[in-house]
Parts: sequence; structure tokens; C-alpha cells
Amino acid sequence: MNARTAAVLEVDKDVQTARKAARGILAAAGNLHDASRADLIARAEKVAAIATAHAVAVDRDSRFPEEAIAAARAERLLGIAVPRELGGEGAGISEIIDVCYALGRACASTAMIYAMHQTKVACLTRHGRSSAWHQLFLRRLCNEQLLLASSTTEGQGGGDVRNSAAAIERDGARITLERQATVISYGKAADGIVTTARRSADAASSDQVLVAFLKQDYTLEPLSGWDAFGMRGTCSEGFKLAASGSSDQILPVSYDKIHAQTMMPVAHLLWSAAWAGIATAAAERARVFVRKAAQRSGGAMPPAAAHLTRANATLRTLRSLIATAAQRFDAASADAAVLESIDFQTGMNMLKVNASEIAVATVMSAMQACGLAGYRNDGEFSIGRHLRDVLSSPIMISNDRILANISAASLLSSAPKSLSE
Ligand SMILES: Cc1cc2nc3c(=O)[nH]c(=O)nc-3n(C[C@H](O)[C@H](O)[C@H](O)COP(=O)(O)OP(=O)(O)OC[C@H]3O[C@@H](n4cnc5c(N)ncnc54)[C@H](O)[C@@H]3O)c2cc1C
Repeated sequence: MNARTAAVLEVDKDVQTARKAARGILAAAGNLHDASRADLIARAEKVAAIATAHAVAVDRDSRFPEEAIAAARAERLLGIAVPRELGGEGAGISEIIDVCYALGRACASTAMIYAMHQTKVACLTRHGRSSAWHQLFLRRLCNEQLLLASSTTEGQGGGDVRNSAAAIERDGARITLERQATVISYGKAADGIVTTARRSADAASSDQVLVAFLKQDYTLEPLSGWDAFGMRGTCSEGFKLAASGSSDQILPVSYDKIHAQTMMPVAHLLWSAAWAGIATAAAERARVFVRKAAQRSGGAMPPAAAHLTRANATLRTLRSLIATAAQRFDAASADAAVLESIDFQTGMNMLKVNASEIAVATVMSAMQACGLAGYRNDGEFSIGRHLRDVLSSPIMISNDRILANISAASLLSSAPKSLSE
């Protein structure tokens, strides 16, 4: 071996050692991540067990799932998405999705409340980085496990999230806001409300900001109750919201950016996870029903077993749809241009439309698999609550509205050259 070869081999040995060390660090980090993910799932399952125990009463009485939310606070699940330096756990989107899914299997209202709270936390975390007020607020949220509600729907505007009627009024550094909030889920139980508003009295309806108010900053005057078909525990009552605070409470980024980069994709991912949880719980009831029916008839599958097969198949599609969208969001999350691209926006909007339709179809298949036992409200195989809850999914920002909004984008996209595109 000549000197040059020996030197190259020596360098190669160094490179190999460095690579091994890097692999070791990556493996250790991976193990840590797996451990924290497993810990998170274990904590979510503890909360889910409590949510399950109270789900029937929450639905029957149309009441806030206080036991489950208290358990979520005890497990410190409300601040998990906040960065560690602010007292949170820095959980990623797929971890929050896991929690929403676990809660959705137990109690749809608890899962939806958690999903709405986490969507607001995501907006504050990503877009409040340069704001001392919001950094402090997130610290408090983690310490005190504050629950945040959302107010976007207003007056007769329905699900038109990208337009606001009520405007921020300014008096020096003080701001006030008064809005007719058609629905604010768990408005009474929340510790704070994050709301959209017109930037100022002379701003266009689409020139919006997002503001965080703590309970001490506002009053809620009841406008309407919540006696709904499903999602009865979200207590989505209507209120006149009258809030005041400091202009620091307005996020420093305009709402059009917040909506595109965080609010819409995160809401659609987390709502979809909650709906997947409902669909899974219904399919699980159908599986036990069909298994029992087969046992009773000496192993022969009942004719309705085909509906269970269909429920399992659509559930598989739903899970992979959400997982793929979550990966896509993760990959794009550092790049505002990608997040705001037409392709990404269309994909995340279509996730909501598709996930809601598939979740409804899955629960319907489960109901058909159980037949009368699924249709009745009593008994261990009742699918009634699941069906009523999941039917909120196509109307929670109407699928028709979403499809109409993105119809122009459909003209722009050409046929992909390969299936992986
Ligand atoms: C369980 C639940 C919890 C909620 N919690 C909150 C909350 O905490 N805070 C909050 O602000 N909001 C909340 N909402 C409201 C939600 O965000 C939407 O605003 C609401 O679902 C839309 O209501 P809508 O059907 O009256 O409105 P619209 O969007 O006006 O839809 C009404 C109907 O009009 C049709 N339609 C509307 N636009 C179009 C269009 N462009 N093309 C074709 N057809 C169209 C659709 O067929 C739709 O069925 C909640 C909703 C639900 C179901």
C-alpha cells in the first residue's frame, strides 16, 4: 500500500467513524422520539378512557365533557404543541393527530374540542414568534393548561372564514371588539378566545387579523343555545362577544397568511383525525357484532359481514389520506411559499372534503353491518351517536363552500405524468 492509498483509507476510516457516531446520535434521538410518542399516546389513552366513561352522558345532556378535559389538563395535554423553551413539549402534527384520533374513538365532542384548541395553539405558536405578548401567553397556557376556543363564524356569514364583519376599534394602544358570534364551541368553559376580526373600521372584510383574548378581557352575552343533532358536547352556543385588550394581543402576521399556512391545514388535519376516531369506533362495534353473529351460527359469516369489510376498507383509505397529508404538511412547514401554493392549498382543502365523506361512509357501513342493533339507540352495538357526530363533518365549513372556492384551481392542474406526482 502506498502512502497516498494509506492516507485515503485513514480519511475513509474517519468518515466511517463519524458516520457511525452520527447514526448513533440519530438512533438515540429516534429512540427518544419513539419514547416520547409512546408516552404521549399512553397519556391520551388515559384521557380517552375517562372520555369513554362519560360520552353517553355528554351526548344525552348536551353538556361540556368536563371530566375528559380535566383529565387532559391533568395529563398536561393542552400545551404539548408549544415549543419546549416556552414550557411545552414541541409535539409535531402527527403526534397531535394521534391524540385527536384516540379521543375521537372515545368521545367525538372531546376530540373536536381538543382539535379546535390545538388549531389555535398552532396559529399562536407559528405566527406569534416575534411577539412578546404571545410568547408569554403560550407560557401561561402551558403552566395553567389554558383551554382556547375559536371564533370565526359571525352573523349570517356561515363558514366564510376569510371575511369578517366586526372590526377592531383602536384607542391608542387599547383595542376593543364586538362581534355577533354565531357559534363559539365551549365558549363558556374556555379560558380564552382566539378570534378573527376586520383590521380596522375602514378595512375591507377580507383584511383580517387574529386576536387572542383571555377570559378576563371579554364578556359573552348568550344569543342562541346548542341543541344539535350530534357533537352535542361541543356546546357551540352563539354569543355577543365584547372584548377589550392591548394591541399587542393582535398577532403580528395578517390573517390571510395565518389561514393559509396554519389555520386551514391544521384544522383540516386535526378535524379529520377526530372524524377518523369516530369512524374507527363505529367499525369496531361492527366488528364485534359480526364476530358474535358468526360465533352464534357456527362460524358462518352473516350476510352483513360485507358491510364490515367495506367499513374496514374505507377506514384504511381514511387513515392513509390523513397520514399522507400530515407528512406533506410536515415537509412543507418550513417553507411559506410551498404552504401558500395552489397545489398545497387545494390538497389540504380536499383533505377535509374527502375525509368527511369517507368518515360518514365508514360509519354508515358500520351501521349497516349491525342492522337493527346498530340503528337502535340502546344496546352495545348502537351506532346512533357515532352517526350523528360524524354527520357534522361535511357541514363544519360546508364541503359545498370549499369545493366552490377551489373550483378555479381545478382548471389549472394538469394530469400528472406518474402516480407518485
Ligand atoms: C360541531 C361544530 C362546531 C363548530 N364550532 C365553531 C366554533 O367554535 N367557532 C366558530 O366560529 N364556528 C364554529 N362552527 C361553525 C363552522 O365553522 C361553520 O361556520 C359552519 O359549520 C357553517 O355553517 P352554515 O352551514 O350555516 O354556513 P354556510 O357556510 O353558509 O353553508 C350553508 C349552506 O350553504 C351552502 N353553501 C355555502 N356556500 C356555498 C358555495 N360557495 N357554493 C355552494 N353552496 C354553498 C352549503 O350547501 C351549506 O350547506 C362549528 C360548526 C360545527 C358543526
